Amino acid sequence: MQRVNNHISAARFSRQSHTETFEIEVKSSDMIGQVTMAFNTMARTVEQRLHNETRFRALISDLSAHVDLDHTAEIILKYFIDATCMTSGLLYGKIEEEMTLLSSKGLDTDDKLPRKLESWQGPIAETIQSGEPYTIDTTENSCVDWVATTTPFGSFRPRFIRIIPLIAEKSTVGLVIAACSQSEVPEDTQLETLKTYASYMAPYLQNSLLHNKIQEMASYDSLTHVLNRRFGLIRLQEEFSTALRYGIDLSVIMIDIDKFKIINDTHGHEAGDQVLKTVASTITLNLRNEEIICRYGGEEFLIILPMANLNKAGFVAERLRDLVERQTSYYKDRGIPVTISLGVSSLSSLVTQDRNDLINTADTAMYHSKNMGRNQVTIFRNNEAVLLPKKKKTVSEV
Ligand code: GH3
Ligand code: MG
Ligand code: MG
Repeated sequence: MQRVNNHISAARFSRQSHTETFEIEVKSSDMIGQVTMAFNTMARTVEQRLHNETRFRALISDLSAHVDLDHTAEIILKYFIDATCMTSGLLYGKIEEEMTLLSSKGLDTDDKLPRKLESWQGPIAETIQSGEPYTIDTTENSCVDWVATTTPFGSFRPRFIRIIPLIAEKSTVGLVIAACSQSEVPEDTQLETLKTYASYMAPYLQNSLLHNKIQEMASYDSLTHVLNRRFGLIRLQEEFSTALRYGIDLSVIMIDIDKFKIINDTHGHEAGDQVLKTVASTITLNLRNEEIICRYGGEEFLIILPMANLNKAGFVAERLRDLVERQTSYYKDRGIPVTISLGVSSLSSLVTQDRNDLINTADTAMYHSKNMGRNQVTIFRNNEAVLLPKKKKTVSEV
């Protein structure tokens, strides 16, 4: 008893404790033995509560430190998996009304995990509807079909799945889908702890989703949905630093729509807007993933081509010029022909290492295209603007 007393005194100001140090050995089954057992149960309960409180504090402190969606998602999933003793899991968050994959843990990244969750039927729909955690024991549950066909776990076939809704302001803002393969089914007593976790985490997830939306809105041009100038220049700076650090090339293409003022004057401002959208989407659809487009000004776009040399960038520019020329923009069933003038510059063909020089020389080249009759590509080579020959049209295109 004296030993236990000493441990309790020592632990009074500490957040760490070990149940075994508080427990008293049960030596009999009489009244004394029963009191001892009751004491041990109490000690274990207090220890469990203390443990949970410490975890909650750590969780809140981690969540409060980050508003960034990737970080928040990672923390939420990590805590859920640790708390449920599961081996793997996924966190989906509601973006534009769709449950979108935010984070995964313990799953084969080669597997194509569904980016969007089909939520109109099955366990997902039931969880969203009821607002309660949903448990699937794949050996006895009727959800086996769901697990086999629409499971978000890729090639992993879990033995046990738990779907936990994250509800903030009466709306399901996220779903944790945790799973394990072990034969031992986790206890249902965890459910209350899970719900408490979920109620703590949901507002943080909601905040991060909102923050993410605001950031997206701040980085994209609302008309054309490509990066705006500010964020385009941030991306250029990043690519510029990478290119210098690794000694690799980097090219940019400056694009300006020809006689755009006449399009506005002839067909109206709304038609002009439609032309801008069509040109932006034609270019976007014809770029590779690593290539970046931003709206640089009113009817100007800047393309960033990481690792591309002047030849390759010139080739891309000519392809874009040709595509825009061949693609008619439509406004209220009226076809509006559009052409663009382009200027190309590459880091390797410049003498300085200034990001602005890359843009300025591409701009100079673009104006050369304008002066040479528009609907042209000019590359900036050896300190000189050089017009590129147009791609030859095939017989069927003439
Ligand atoms: P150039 O071939 O020399 O480039 O001639 P341009 O008419 O395209 O060039 P200018 O700079 O004279 O005119 C650009 C026009 O683009 C003027 C401006 O009103 C229009 N513009 C800029 N932003 C927008 C926009 O968001 N929507 C619409 N509809 N027009 C815009
Ligand atoms: Mg212009
Ligand atoms: Mg123009």
